[in-house]
Amino acid sequence: MRIISASSYSDYILCPLIYSYKYIENYQDIFSVKSEEIKKGDLIHKLIYNYSRDIIYPESYINEDIDVKNAFNYYLEKYDEKLPNTFNEYSFNVGINTEFEKVILNGRIDQITFNDKNITIIDWKSTNRKTKISLLTNKLQMDFYSYAVSKIKDIDFINIKLVYLNLQQEENILIDKDKLFEIEKNIFDMIKNTNPDITNYVPKPLELVKGKYICEVCNFYNFCQGYI
Ligand code: SF4
Repeated sequence: MRIISASSYSDYILCPLIYSYKYIENYQDIFSVKSEEIKKGDLIHKLIYNYSRDIIYPESYINEDIDVKNAFNYYLEKYDEKLPNTFNEYSFNVGINTEFEKVILNGRIDQITFNDKNITIIDWKSTNRKTKISLLTNKLQMDFYSYAVSKIKDIDFINIKLVYLNLQQEENILIDKDKLFEIEKNIFDMIKNTNPDITNYVPKPLELVKGKYICEVCNFYNFCQGYI
């Protein structure tokens, strides 16, 4: 049974050829080197997770890097509250049936709170800048998480908080049932169009325009035949 993750879903929506290169032709390993920014982000997530479990790191460790220190201090100042029914680093594996195949939606949510008829999801961001592509990717990932958790618990809506710790900003998104229906359609389309049993699967071509920003920031820019 195929496992679909939030990142594979957002890759597909951004460009079906990215999905094809990464998950069908398996080129993703060549991009596996982690940047310094990603390593700092991993450390900040780890600090918050451990703090939520009352594991406190020595201050000298946190103070080693100014970005890590600022992000963690902002978290302590604004978000350090212990709410009931709240889970950090919440992993899910949700099975769904489509007319083509059964798949598992898989992911890990930074923080989730289950209320009576709604859910709040928090995603910690540690970047010092926002780009068009990161904003788009973040929203697609939140769509995916929302749809997956709506299959775990019947709810009326989902509150998303994208918390940019270093920028000291919070972005709120409300996902209601209409939006969930739209997301489901996108996920089902993706599953249908990337079904491995369709041996002559060809990704739907992007509407390619020279200078389109997605191509110019794409890791596959140099050898992609779709790029013009
Ligand atoms: S270079 Fe452009 S067309 Fe090719 S995979 Fe990247 S985004 Fe898609």
